[in-house]
Amino acid sequence: MSIITGSCSPRNILHPSTLLDFKYEIGPYYGCEHNCHYCYAHDTEETDWKKEILVHENFAPQLQTEIKGLEKQTIFIGKDTDPYQPIEKKLQHTRQTLEILSVNGHAACILTKSDMVVRDIDLLRGMPGSSVGMSFSFQTERSREIFEDNAPANRTRLEALWKIKEAGIETYALVSPVMPLITNIEMQINMLKPVADTIWIYRLEIHSTEDKSWENIENILNKFCPQNLKSFKEITFNKKHQYWSELRKKLEEIKNCEKLALIVEI
Ligand code: SF4
Repeated sequence: MSIITGSCSPRNILHPSTLLDFKYEIGPYYGCEHNCHYCYAHDTEETDWKKEILVHENFAPQLQTEIKGLEKQTIFIGKDTDPYQPIEKKLQHTRQTLEILSVNGHAACILTKSDMVVRDIDLLRGMPGSSVGMSFSFQTERSREIFEDNAPANRTRLEALWKIKEAGIETYALVSPVMPLITNIEMQINMLKPVADTIWIYRLEIHSTEDKSWENIENILNKFCPQNLKSFKEITFNKKHQYWSELRKKLEEIKNCEKLALIVEI
């Protein structure tokens, strides 16, 4: 089924960032065709992402106006939406964002799951201080396809990250979300350390069993591994669970032993 676009105008494109290292973030789209079932953005979704994505009507002129006079800085792109989801191929709002940031002397920190980011290496090379990150949660394609059926394969993401690194652009990877009893952290780190300058680890964070993201996960676990559902739920909703403390300990050992740029947020 082809995706349709609705309007999200006149909302702002540039927003104050909730991330510690950034003052501002840009969301080129509302919604995400990758439609990962665990995605926290499902909890505030306005459309069915399998059918409709919301876009800004006069994207480039609006962004040019919003960015006017902003001191030079690095702006985060890709928090609640993937800037390189399939619609980007046609609309190019992310490429227009990079062009505008570049002309105004800003850098970009991009987070995506798509190899389409390779298309914009030409722009990113001319934006000192920029970086590109990819996120991973699953070591097998079978699990990935169950939870992220519409996102590019791990291999595709890894190859794209290699190309970014070879182009001299800083890379990072997120093992995110760490899915209890499913994500094998050591395998992920071994896969990512040759290609990512920094690896961030984030646990699955769900606030309530009423959230859409939890409803999606529960349905999947019920279908594919009902025997793990009870433990998965206990671990997910208890930050102090032994599972997390043991994982933190293991990651501390890996970090010290391998001298990795590993940032653990679990
Ligand atoms: S790619 Fe990112 S923003 Fe898009 S659905 Fe997946 S987790 Fe959410």
